[in-house]
Amino acid sequence: MLPTRKHRIALISVDGDPAAEIGQEEAGGQNVYVRQVGYALAEQGWQVDMFTRQSSPEQATIVQHGPLCRTIRLKTGSTEFIGRDHLFEHLPEFIAEFQTFQREQGFQYRLIHTNYWLSSWVGMELKKQQPLIQLHTYHSLGTVKYSAISDIPAIASKRIAVEKACLETVDRVVATSPQEQQHMRRLVSTKGKIEVIPCGTDVDKFGLIQRSAARQELGIAPDVKMILYVGRFDQRKGIETLVRAVAKSSLRDHANLQLVIGGGYRPGHSDGIERDRIASIVAELGLQDCTTFPGRLDEAVIPSYYAAADVCVVPSHYEPFGLVAIEAMASQTPVVASDVGGLQFTVVPEVTGLLVPPKDEVAFATAIDRILLNPNWRDQLGEAGRQRVEIAFSWYSVASRLTQIYTHLLAQTMPSIESKPQIAA
Ligand code: UDP
Repeated sequence: MLPTRKHRIALISVDGDPAAEIGQEEAGGQNVYVRQVGYALAEQGWQVDMFTRQSSPEQATIVQHGPLCRTIRLKTGSTEFIGRDHLFEHLPEFIAEFQTFQREQGFQYRLIHTNYWLSSWVGMELKKQQPLIQLHTYHSLGTVKYSAISDIPAIASKRIAVEKACLETVDRVVATSPQEQQHMRRLVSTKGKIEVIPCGTDVDKFGLIQRSAARQELGIAPDVKMILYVGRFDQRKGIETLVRAVAKSSLRDHANLQLVIGGGYRPGHSDGIERDRIASIVAELGLQDCTTFPGRLDEAVIPSYYAAADVCVVPSHYEPFGLVAIEAMASQTPVVASDVGGLQFTVVPEVTGLLVPPKDEVAFATAIDRILLNPNWRDQLGEAGRQRVEIAFSWYSVASRLTQIYTHLLAQTMPSIESKPQIAA
């Protein structure tokens, strides 16, 4: 039975389509977050409309995920894919489309939860036009990102200014880890209200299949030492560090060592280019025979990949949260991750995995070897990881925390909102 019906709310994620296929260019953690938070909030009785930009002509305008949850794709500019760094100029049109949608439906949303800086700007502009409560999740901070790269895009200063205005003015910012909260305070602004609510994962999807069964399904022999990467092909994900670490592993000449680099890519796009760069490093280091690129891992196979692995490596240069780490932990697979951002929050060193300095291939090699050489310890780490995820990282608990905040904010502001005229049907 559904709980008592609550308000209609909008999750806005202009660039991260919750109904998209995950695991390739610009479709990763943010898409999963919006979708899973949307589903979980709907289960708790909210009527959830998730707004995104239509990025291909074949896409349906509305995807109904369940009775209380749908994705609505607004037409903005062309219906072709536009990279995040070039979307800002199209946002006024997105806002106009959102307003048209509200008018056609005959209601105004009272609460929106925006995702990534582009949508935060949309939310702040909407707030000038109608009474609205706005929550925001950053997913990534410009100040952190730009400190780690050399090719800073033209949009950078705009993004940094918008992120500061957002933190200082929206009703609540959701940080997904205490580390992200610290970054906001140190690098963005000391003003504004932040609530730490971690991301979650599907504890019923991951961890149900055992290692041996998963290997049988994937055709991986029981004595293979399997190292897994899952994620987008992006230089900041540090896949190069992982490949170089495997080349330095004491097990590199072990006949049964296998590196699996899972993630989608499109030839000629930035992820395809990064995939080719990684493949050439693999070749240069003589690792072709023990490395596979299975492509995008879809819903049906991804739990088996996590379960089959001896270790999952998250070598990101920076990670505000890092869903892959908790998905691996939920699958009872230990994690070796960069000692950065949200990974410092999710991975407990020596308990659920190991943390090592980012970009340090020797440290990654040592950590990976420690786990591969000790299967009993691997199992202990895996078990502890699963327990940690069950306790701390379910989408249900994320949605419950958000429900508390939404309800509180709506109760605080409802009288003034109710007194304003609503758009006629
Ligand atoms: N993912 C997937 N298939 C792939 C690669 C990645 O489903 O082939 C998913 C992965 O399971 C995770 C998300 O994409 O849920 C990546 O999220 P994460 O927070 O680790 O990284 P982001 O993409 O946000 O940088």
